[in-house]
Amino acid sequence: MNAQLITEEEFHDSELGDVYDLFNAVNGQILNGLLDVNKLDEYGPEDAEALNVTRLRKVWEHTASGCAECESIIRGLSRLRESLAATAG
Ligand SMILES: [Zn+2]
Repeated sequence: MNAQLITEEEFHDSELGDVYDLFNAVNGQILNGLLDVNKLDEYGPEDAEALNVTRLRKVWEHTASGCAECESIIRGLSRLRESLAATAG
């Protein structure tokens, strides 16, 4: 019915890169334990297209579905960001 829908399997093939892109796009902001998807609304049309915000939203929806793999990737990225911030000062 919907050929654009990404299957779970396809998604997980490129998961690390996609979650990483999403993490960067929202600047690592966490809201209620998930990446802050509202940050994607703050991009102008050109940036949104360059970042492929439509795709990132799908990635976010997947992380919001409770995927443990994504959760651990995001947690790892957050920790990395915190430790970088700590050493940068
Ligand atoms: Zn996942």
